[in-house]
Amino acid sequence: MLDDSTEDWLANAINVIGACPEVREPQPVPPVLPPTVTKEDRVAEKYSGEAYCVKCKAKREFEGDVVVNDKGTKMAKGKCHVCGTTLNRILGKA
Ligand SMILES: [Zn+2]
Repeated sequence: MLDDSTEDWLANAINVIGACPEVREPQPVPPVLPPTVTKEDRVAEKYSGEAYCVKCKAKREFEGDVVVNDKGTKMAKGKCHVCGTTLNRILGKA
């Protein structure tokens, strides 16, 4: 339980830290991108090639967008031109 004087001391300490940007701790590594970043924002390039369609149970030629997921894995996303199923092809680390 904090009494009033302890809270004042804390407030002062915070003010002092805020007024001295030179003595700040080294900046931490930036956090993982927030989930508000949509896949569309991360489309960087196009991909065309083959991917396995789980519905057709066959390899299909497709053209799609290269996206990077939250784990930093590059993936090509496209559609099977036969059945319309979304195709994913993992391209590796971004
Ligand atoms: Zn298909």
